[in-house]
Amino acid sequence: MAQRTTVTTTCDVPQDHGPDEPGSMFEFGYAGSEYEIDLCGKHEAVAAEFFGNLVRHARRTGSGMGRRPRSRTKAARAKAAACREWAVMEGLLDDGSRGRIPSAVCARYEAYLRGGK
Ligand SMILES: [Zn+2]
Repeated sequence: MAQRTTVTTTCDVPQDHGPDEPGSMFEFGYAGSEYEIDLCGKHEAVAAEFFGNLVRHARRTGSGMGRRPRSRTKAARAKAAACREWAVMEGLLDDGSRGRIPSAVCARYEAYLRGGK
């Protein structure tokens, strides 16, 4: 007969409730390291609010699929330049604007490349 094992995770933050409060995994990165912690609904809400406030002011790096080297490839740079040129032509971007192209603009450019409008 097959045996079924139930794995229960409990909240790793001991405050405000007993040690057996069920939790689910919450992952985050800080100072170059990745962390995971099991949090109950209440502590997850606290963490989500905390990180939500920081993330609003933060720059995103990578795609969440692991760390990518900071320097962009030549192909990526050429693509960004082409996207910028197109966006200026379409009036989506000011000529001479610098810095990151908004991702919405890039998405429209990619749709344009695929033949959509
Ligand atoms: Zn908790």
